[in-house]
Amino acid sequence: MRPTSVAAAAIAISFFISAEYPGSAQEKERAAPKRIAIRAGRLIDGKSEAPVVNALILIEGDQIVSVTTAATAPAGVQVIDLSKATVLPGFVDTHTHLLLNGDITSEDYDVQLLKQSIPYRAILSARNARIALEHGFTAMRDLETEGAMYADVDIKTAIANGEVPGPRMQVATRAMTPTGMYPLLGYSWELQVPKGVQYVDGVEGARKAVREQVMYGADWIKYYSDRRYHFESDGVLHSMVNFTDDEAKAIVDEAHRLGKKVAAHAIGSDGIAAALRAGVDTIEHGDGMTDALIDEISKKGVFWVPTITVGAYVAPGRGGNWTKMVDLKIALGTDAGGFDWKEVNQAKEFEYYVNYGMTPMQAIRSGTVVPAELLGWSGKMGTIEAGKWADLVAVSGDPLKDITELQRVKFVMKGGAVYKNDVH
Ligand SMILES: [Zn+2]
Repeated sequence: MRPTSVAAAAIAISFFISAEYPGSAQEKERAAPKRIAIRAGRLIDGKSEAPVVNALILIEGDQIVSVTTAATAPAGVQVIDLSKATVLPGFVDTHTHLLLNGDITSEDYDVQLLKQSIPYRAILSARNARIALEHGFTAMRDLETEGAMYADVDIKTAIANGEVPGPRMQVATRAMTPTGMYPLLGYSWELQVPKGVQYVDGVEGARKAVREQVMYGADWIKYYSDRRYHFESDGVLHSMVNFTDDEAKAIVDEAHRLGKKVAAHAIGSDGIAAALRAGVDTIEHGDGMTDALIDEISKKGVFWVPTITVGAYVAPGRGGNWTKMVDLKIALGTDAGGFDWKEVNQAKEFEYYVNYGMTPMQAIRSGTVVPAELLGWSGKMGTIEAGKWADLVAVSGDPLKDITELQRVKFVMKGGAVYKNDVH
């Protein structure tokens, strides 16, 4: 600003202040949150057993204020016409890796850690977050950065500040294994290669690592309960357990003491059992689930995040017990990043759940209401009702008849802002 313009600016500011004192009409107009009415031809609200026909969703600012079957929207409110579409709560993926782009072979993985800088990977993660949002995912739990340190905290912050489009995020930062139990491995001992996790040893080391990750912004603590998965003569998928029970319990205890929850990667039955002994909050993958483990997970109220999409993509022919799953708290999780974000739509996971025996409504709940509870955000999302964030999506057809409709999301709103509208 040139010196001569300072006085003029001061006058302009004082005029601005006196003309718009608090409480004036202009002030009220500016302060009033934007009001939008969405006309939904069919509404799957996440709590009713059947869809509501011809619903009117009234939104103020970032929140839903009412859901009615009123014929007309209030005067002066912007109306979005989705009367030919099905409206649902925004989808939630509780197991993603925004900083990973395909992990079919160990070369795919190593190249990303060895040849891509963390800033480059962070830029790609912003692209991935936008893809996820446009596919209808308005919230995600990102379960470790695979060597990109704390860059997930940065992408979460950039989204929350409105700098880049993306889902609401909870992040786990670096994840943990004991020394030598996660790549990069197999390189000359003379080379200092990056690691996909933080190596953590001993009870004191476990507590310190939890404190460190929480200090840098971890919402969740993730650890790898097992590795080396193999079928044994009992027909069950077994595994080698990574941490001693004392170490795993120290991780969980310290995380809980600091008010954080714990996710355990556990594929084989031994890894699942060890994670349940340690007291984790969510079991990731869980392929080696047995009847006894299903009973235990159910009794303890632990969430199971099956991640079928990545399994189907990278390892066809997996086992598992799906008959009792309707009794369980199954939260949708895909392991996106384990497959390329540009190639596979995360909403494919809904289709797998239906193929494995869920009803379409159960599958929808596993990707909306149940994960909202997992994230501790039940009061704010997961259903379409008054008081919740205005996070919703729309598809043209009826997902209760064809679950693959969820892979063709036409409309996305997060926090009352429209990010996509291809409904015609
Ligand atoms: Zn994963």
